Amino acid sequence: MKFKMIDKLILSTLIISKFAVASNFKPGTYIGSAPGYKDNIQVEVKVNSKKIESVKIVKHDESPLISDVALQRIPAEVVEYQSLGVDEVAGATATSKGVIAAITRALRAAGGDLNTLRKKVVTNTVKENREYNADVIVVGGGGAGLAAAVSAHQNGATVLVLEKMPRVGGNTLIAGSAYNAVDPKRQKPLGIEDSVDLHYKHTFEGGDKLGKPVLIKTFVENSYPGIEWLESLGMGFKDEIFTVLGALYPRSHKPEKPLGTGFIGTYEDYISKNKGITVLTDTKVEDLILENGRVVGVKALGRKENIVAKAKNGVVIATGGFGANVELRQHYNSKLTKDIPTTNHPGATGEVMFMAAEKAAANLVGLQYIQLLPMGDPINGSLSGNIEGSVEDRIFVNKSGKRFVAEDERRDVMTNALFEQEDAYMWTIVDAHTYPTEQGKNNFNETIEDLVKKGRAFKGETVEELATKIKVDPVVLKDTIDKFNVAVENKTDEFGRKLFANKLDKAPFYAGPRVPTVHHTMGGVEINEKTQVLDKAGNPIPGLFAAGEVTGGLHGSNRLGGNALAEITVFGKIAGEEAAKNK
Ligand code: ADP
Repeated sequence: MKFKMIDKLILSTLIISKFAVASNFKPGTYIGSAPGYKDNIQVEVKVNSKKIESVKIVKHDESPLISDVALQRIPAEVVEYQSLGVDEVAGATATSKGVIAAITRALRAAGGDLNTLRKKVVTNTVKENREYNADVIVVGGGGAGLAAAVSAHQNGATVLVLEKMPRVGGNTLIAGSAYNAVDPKRQKPLGIEDSVDLHYKHTFEGGDKLGKPVLIKTFVENSYPGIEWLESLGMGFKDEIFTVLGALYPRSHKPEKPLGTGFIGTYEDYISKNKGITVLTDTKVEDLILENGRVVGVKALGRKENIVAKAKNGVVIATGGFGANVELRQHYNSKLTKDIPTTNHPGATGEVMFMAAEKAAANLVGLQYIQLLPMGDPINGSLSGNIEGSVEDRIFVNKSGKRFVAEDERRDVMTNALFEQEDAYMWTIVDAHTYPTEQGKNNFNETIEDLVKKGRAFKGETVEELATKIKVDPVVLKDTIDKFNVAVENKTDEFGRKLFANKLDKAPFYAGPRVPTVHHTMGGVEINEKTQVLDKAGNPIPGLFAAGEVTGGLHGSNRLGGNALAEITVFGKIAGEEAAKNK
């Protein structure tokens, strides 16, 4: 089957006339405000009688890094094109809509003719042909791609990174960001015994023994060196070790910064301080260039350029997964319809792995293995609003207030169990052990106080009060928690749970709603331990490397929570080294 990979967000070109007659404004400075992703965005718009002179964002609470392109680009384009008909920025649509709405309100107050201002008028944007040359080309500027770019540069290469979205970061930027590694320095003081053999066993068995042993071995042996490498680049990790959802064991590390901002910010910092890495955003790779069976470059489409990019040493594919491509994921798993949300950014569409297969004969493996989490926000499927801390300290209950699964299980097991519950809907229940203060934050930098205020989580001084707030029978919820607390004491549980720490007995109690959400695609291009892309016969394809979620074969049928951030670091770094020295 051939897929038409049409990325609507990317293809929506700017079609605005520079000559649109704006309006007859009442000259002055106007404030406009509208809801963004998190809170109200406030803009200050200055107009004279004929023209929008300037647009400034004066107040916002949007996520740093994720929304910055929208916050910069939209005001600038409204002024440049004298129009409200500018494109939303893909990956930051809620912020984009908020900025446009706020500017609209200010212009309405200024007496602007909104019908004219909102019009999109076609311009003849002729793209320039441009050739780029570098030692190494990296396709995709997420966690794996930027790791590859930095490591290739550290190994003496000049690097060109091509990223189709308006900013780098990919899914990595919005990841929960737990990183699994065997780390005696942090685990020992907490009394946690661990070994790379145990990490190997969990990864191999947790994927139903379908992962490729040589990749798993490379992965577990290099996970901790990956942390040391990130630290050498300036990234901070907390000393705390926890068990992230589906990790099966306490070896998950927490970056100091929220989401994936620590990873992406660290690489961006390196790139800005060192000459030799060029990053082109809004640039979608559409083809691979081969000469005599060797991959020597790519063709790409930028906002203003048609690009031919040539790589002297190698091309690294790091384009992530395809969780946001409903047609494709449904092809491999018919249950994954558009009604099931995803945690993924809109650029996770998977076209480049097919390009590698069709053009360079890359072997694709494990595409049927698509991971869901039982942890989606009911409104948008994202991981934001998640109130869980460590696996040990929370339970899941269904709409009847009853537990239904061992909450330390594999991600697939927990999600399948959730699908069996009424409306496939559950509540995560935690207490003050997870949030000793109201200012306690989740990985998304959201305080529990704020989540409760916004109605995204609920709080009760007693279990009964919490039950009433979430419309669950208080007697049932109390009984569920009492039974769980006995299980914590006895370390045996009716659902077979093994990971325990505190009882749920410290007020206040909190509940957060969650639904199944598509999260990670385990399959992709086959690689060896040097990240060389393999053909169907298992031979490396000259000049072609791959790392991260676009590859298949490491995780088997189910990826352990916390293994992805480690994977993209380990294999991204190897890909950079290998491509740099592939002269
Ligand atoms: P990983 O964790 O494997 O690094 P990410 O999702 O973090 O995956 O990053 C993959 C990046 O690749 C994303 O930023 C995505 O927008 C980018 N990408 C996907 N397809 C293309 C393409 N055709 N051209 C350029 N970049 C792409």
